[in-house]
Amino acid sequence: GDFPIDLDTVVIGSGPGGYVAAVHAAELGQKVTVIEDNAKLGGVCLRVGCIPSKALIQVSHDYQTALGSASEGVVADTVKLDWDKVQKYRGSVVQRMTNGVAYLFKKNHIDVIHGKAFLKDQNSLRVMHQDVAQTYTFKNLIIATGSHPIEIPGFKFQGRVIDSTGLLELSQQPKNLIIIGGGYIGCELASAYANFGTKVTILEGTDAILRNYEKDIVKIVQKRLEQRGVKIITNAMAKSATDGDGSVKVTYSLDGTEHSIMADDVCVTVGRKPNTKEIGLEQVGIQTDQRGLIKVDAQGRTNINHIYAIGDIVAGAALAHKASYEGKIAAEAIAGQKSVVDYRAMPAVCYVDPEIATTGLTAAQAKDQGLSVKTAKFPFSANGRAVSMHSPDGFVRLVFTSDEQQVVGAQIVGADASDLISELTLAIESGATVEDIALTVHPHPSLSEAIMDSADVGLGMPTNI
Ligand code: FAD
Repeated sequence: GDFPIDLDTVVIGSGPGGYVAAVHAAELGQKVTVIEDNAKLGGVCLRVGCIPSKALIQVSHDYQTALGSASEGVVADTVKLDWDKVQKYRGSVVQRMTNGVAYLFKKNHIDVIHGKAFLKDQNSLRVMHQDVAQTYTFKNLIIATGSHPIEIPGFKFQGRVIDSTGLLELSQQPKNLIIIGGGYIGCELASAYANFGTKVTILEGTDAILRNYEKDIVKIVQKRLEQRGVKIITNAMAKSATDGDGSVKVTYSLDGTEHSIMADDVCVTVGRKPNTKEIGLEQVGIQTDQRGLIKVDAQGRTNINHIYAIGDIVAGAALAHKASYEGKIAAEAIAGQKSVVDYRAMPAVCYVDPEIATTGLTAAQAKDQGLSVKTAKFPFSANGRAVSMHSPDGFVRLVFTSDEQQVVGAQIVGADASDLISELTLAIESGATVEDIALTVHPHPSLSEAIMDSADVGLGMPTNI
């Protein structure tokens, strides 16, 4: 056997959960070691998730902008897409960001061990690296192993049947693309590829795409997808994919009949599964639920006192900033602080066209929680900046309590919603009221004025509609 090496705080995984937990733990004075199986640091988010998808989405917007806009008087004659360079650009963005994590680890004296970690008992784990095993003991452990795409029957990931990672890294731009699953990842990538000129079909098993969002939001996004030529087929149950000669045939059933369509590639984005198998949880008796998510308390602590779990492997939204938030709390808990998670002001963004950003509660969720709430909505069509940006679609909606007018939620669909939402997350976090927002002077002309205007609507004193 190998001789164990003693460590203090150990973090498994260097995604937005693990790397933020590691940095924060080091800042709080702990000696931290991160174990990462992948050669690159940064997890799904930096390697094959948030960052590369946003790089492709950005290029797809740049391409659309370059194509010109007749109504704005911009006429472009020869605009070309160099796919190799698009892919090189994506790769360079990823490289730069993963290097950034390496820099942060160095700066905070965090050691990195590359290899696959497996728990042996409550105080030790084994790391396998290129067939060599080494055992380490730990004082505290944060598990942040993330998630992987779900495979469905009939669609084994192979060749032209790909997952989101495959779709980000395609070496050739598909002429035709089928995306199975109209969730946020499927719709973001559908929208990017449609902007690039690919003919995209979304097959969605339920009766609507983006089912986590309210209908008036989805309607705006769906219209834009369809304008870009995306065909959305709902209530379509995907059956099988047959990889043929240079193309793939996908069959699905709709209203009891079988249909089939051909494409260059088919991407399955029907959800993700936590990486909680084959890491030795059962060796230690760490409890999981039916979905394989690790059970934790409000500090991220598992049923084993000095072992924590954060990010995609615990309940809640599978989002990078939620993983990071939990990572900070776990690091603080290890440092003996009384910090606990509070998900009341958690934002979520879908980077489609236009962007969707939400924070806190919808009106329906607030009512489910027994709150009496009102809503106030202001359209971007009445916002001078949005109109001059050629982006009049969408709106800001505030959700606030009927009595105190305290903001408990907000939804924005429109240009730059991803950045605008933070003001409202801060509003919820700090207990601000509709009046606080209305009294805050916003610069003119700016998209953020729509937030102030929605507050004016909430006060029953609208200025601009
Ligand atoms: P991960 O980022 O999955 O990192 C886990 C790490 O642990 C990996 O590097 C893995 O190699 C390592 N690991 C696993 N098992 C072991 C082991 N046994 N030993 C050692 N190392 C191990 N979220 C957003 O908030 N915004 C977005 O715009 C967004 N876009 C996305 C787009 C796509 C295409 C995808 C797929 C996801 C996107 N997400 C987005 C979700 C986001 O990527 C995840 O929520 C986030 O990465 C979860 O972070 P994590 O730290 O829990 O795990």
